[in-house]
Amino acid sequence: MAGLYIHIPYCQKACHYCDFHFSTQLHSLNDMVDCLLLEMELWRKKWRPKLLNSIYFGGGTPSLLSPDQIGQLIRKAMEIWPLAHAAEISLEANPDDISEEKLWGWRQAGINRISLGVQSFFEEDLVWMNRSHSSDQAFSALEILQSGGMNNTTIDLIYGLPNADSDHWKKNIDTFLSFKIPHLSAYSLTIEEKTVFGHQLKTGSLVQAEDVKVESDYMYLCETLANSGYRHYEISNFSLPGMEAKHNSAYWGGQTYLGIGPSAHSYEKDRRWWNISNNTLYINKIRKGDLWWEEETLTDMQRRNERLLTSLRTEKGIETAHLFSGVKGDKGFIKELNSLIEQSKLVENSGVWRIPEKHWLVSDEIISRLIIG
Ligand code: SF4
Repeated sequence: MAGLYIHIPYCQKACHYCDFHFSTQLHSLNDMVDCLLLEMELWRKKWRPKLLNSIYFGGGTPSLLSPDQIGQLIRKAMEIWPLAHAAEISLEANPDDISEEKLWGWRQAGINRISLGVQSFFEEDLVWMNRSHSSDQAFSALEILQSGGMNNTTIDLIYGLPNADSDHWKKNIDTFLSFKIPHLSAYSLTIEEKTVFGHQLKTGSLVQAEDVKVESDYMYLCETLANSGYRHYEISNFSLPGMEAKHNSAYWGGQTYLGIGPSAHSYEKDRRWWNISNNTLYINKIRKGDLWWEEETLTDMQRRNERLLTSLRTEKGIETAHLFSGVKGDKGFIKELNSLIEQSKLVENSGVWRIPEKHWLVSDEIISRLIIG
């Protein structure tokens, strides 16, 4: 099984927290679509998975593409690679791009899952984050998706906003539940250096939320969703049974994926590679046939560390053989392992090691203590 990721590097506005690769200059969008088609063609002979289990349009804002453009990209992928019968074909969308016509067109093109970037249902939070959509548009988008029969929907929400009290967060969760959406991705606000919020933090005009507030938002999220029948299957992801994201689960399960478009990453066996993160250079290089990616070959220890990073983010955890692979009595590792066991931050059950849910918020720190090399 393998996944195909297609990066659409354009957005209407730059959200103040975002450090993904995107441009707000939309003039090259049509050229970009031509080059995405061309890049797939260039991989035809070089990347040959047995079966494609998922296609994921991410960004940026893929919902800026017309249904016709989405259709062209899906058809090209299907012409080159065998697509599984029940393949998941997801589109990340912003609420201001959702209309009945577009939804109909995307479904005709093959999209069977929508990931809606809501972030908050409160207007003041959306303005503060510089989102391109309003609260009304978020509600209206969900109504259109539901009345249009798009049952496989997920939304993104952000918690730990310094200006919003926890009542906002509780109401956001209540609103999510009221729509009976089968999947939620919930992220704690992280301030990245090269963003507007990063600059504000540096100059002192933004103060991050206190840890205790972030923890209480997180615990409310975990408890409320568990009581409503959702499984917390990855640090930031919750789903009703059987509605887990196939594409992202493949990442966490260490499966092969190919990323198309500027800044997209790919992984296969002991090799990973990443495309150039510049729209103009990407277009020029693809058109000329110049190399548009850089790559590295992973050592056994790098592969073990990668597996640790992805597996310990999930409820599945990591098997003993993989946790200890290549460790050979490394004293630093054994010391950290024992200390984490003592603190109950790592537990073992029937040969599988997991981080308990209440510590997932600090999983980066826990995992970093188990990384070797
Ligand atoms: S719409 Fe998404 S990708 Fe674009 S700036 Fe906002 S968060 Fe980043």
